[in-house]
Amino acid sequence: MIAWTPPIVDLPEGRRYRAKEMAISSPIGRVTASAGGRVPALDTSLRNSYDVLFAAYGPQHWWPGRTAFEIVVGAILTQNTSWSNVEIAMRNLRREKLLTPRAIERVSLPRLAQLIRSSGYFRQKAKKLKCFVRFVRSEYGGSLHRMFRVPTAALRERLLAVHGIGPETADAILLYAGKHPVFVVDAYTRRMLERHGLAEPTHSYEEIRQVFERSLPSDAPLYNEFHALIVRNGKEYCRTSNPGCSECPLHSLLPQTMQVSL
Ligand code: SF4
Repeated sequence: MIAWTPPIVDLPEGRRYRAKEMAISSPIGRVTASAGGRVPALDTSLRNSYDVLFAAYGPQHWWPGRTAFEIVVGAILTQNTSWSNVEIAMRNLRREKLLTPRAIERVSLPRLAQLIRSSGYFRQKAKKLKCFVRFVRSEYGGSLHRMFRVPTAALRERLLAVHGIGPETADAILLYAGKHPVFVVDAYTRRMLERHGLAEPTHSYEEIRQVFERSLPSDAPLYNEFHALIVRNGKEYCRTSNPGCSECPLHSLLPQTMQVSL
């Protein structure tokens, strides 16, 4: 287990946690592996990782989007593609004044698909956007504000029932558009944890999400920042192939045994 020195975890906008404020009721942060699997401890390692990444990169100011609805659209369009492709689609939608639920509902499906073509899987994604805005209108009178007033667990369940919204998209919507304290687990998160021996490929999305949420204070700005930092580090160092471990800020937290294999 890596020793945890008592740091000050800085958050943007004057929000700060001291180590004691990050202590939560025990037992904390464990991925409960399925029968026969090992059970790696994550608690202090996650907190150390946050401290190191924040010290290295500072606040990331996520998520790019001018309104909650733009963030929702971005969360759907970024499925299986890079953000640069999404940006082109977002620019098209903005130019056509389509970045409101009502406008997306009114525009024809083929036209919408054409405008978001750069994001890939554009026909499916156009349908997903249509399904989402229909859901918001039928359940919340078209108001995202009303939607986000629903308690986190209940809203998460409802979002997951909408066509085209899986766990990662639902959680990005909840966290970045709705400021609900839900941790977003993406490929960067999983890769980092697995390479540090803190998770295994058999661990489900839910298991990893819950371990973050049990190990850290329930705080949307903290989850926002931590996820953004993991993505930043993943892009710069923790690449799919040839990870730059020797230069990476998290190198000191990489277990010796894992250093050999990477
Ligand atoms: S690049 Fe190496 S040290 Fe950095 S997060 Fe990935 S596995 Fe860890």
